[in-house]
Amino acid sequence: MADPFTLEHRTYYGIEKTLDKVTAGFSTRHGGVSQEPFRSLNLGLHVNDDVENIIENRRRLAEAIGTQLNQWVFAHQVHDNQIQKVGQNDKGKGSNSYNSGMIGKDGLYTKENDIVLALAYADCVPIYFFSNEVQIAGIAHAGWKGTVKGIAPRMIETWVNEENVPVESVHVVVGPSIHHCCYEVDQRVISQVDDALERVDDRPYTSKGDYKYQLNLQQLNKQLLMKIGVLEENIRITSLCTSCNVNEFFSHRKEKGSTGRMLGFIKLDH
Ligand SMILES: [Zn+2]
Repeated sequence: MADPFTLEHRTYYGIEKTLDKVTAGFSTRHGGVSQEPFRSLNLGLHVNDDVENIIENRRRLAEAIGTQLNQWVFAHQVHDNQIQKVGQNDKGKGSNSYNSGMIGKDGLYTKENDIVLALAYADCVPIYFFSNEVQIAGIAHAGWKGTVKGIAPRMIETWVNEENVPVESVHVVVGPSIHHCCYEVDQRVISQVDDALERVDDRPYTSKGDYKYQLNLQQLNKQLLMKIGVLEENIRITSLCTSCNVNEFFSHRKEKGSTGRMLGFIKLDH
């Protein structure tokens, strides 16, 4: 099956428009004005980069997808599992200052078509959600902590319980992030992965000995989503690893913490 992400513009990979429902994608590190170590399209306000450069970079990405930055909504992310519904009064929040973003939220969704939802990443897993029956779109930030706290299934539960979205109508796309090839973790992380799964489940990691493991966070999120009823054929995962492709993406792990941030974004088309 073809990869769900293709390079649409120097500044971003877009999600293939299978259902013609959403504009969604993931930014590259190219086409911006930031200097080392944020060269060049750093889009995160919570790193030590020049704010004016970041806002210019955001403006360029917003324009590349045919939007204005004041339609975008950002979150103040904390590696937890809190989900926030976004409406008209939220437009522009977090676009110019980190602290005006949706505080303490790692998942955003909306039912309105002129709002762009955005979260920042540099190896953590971007998860995009939409339905082929209900006008609704969302995005979550799932590093290992958010993943084991169940942020992805919480998005589905919220949609099913509060928005009457049929679970079988939900489509999920997992975006560029650090993959099994590059993601070594220790026993402390694996213990929590095991807690998030049941004993009979397949383990989404391999042991390297000496209490070190290679973890497949994308597969773990897929397993957790399937457990609450998302159809396997509705879950697509990109093959793009941020750490393997450091010429294209920022990677917190590969660049030892001194790097920029990319944005995952999603917007309803109609
Ligand atoms: Zn890799």
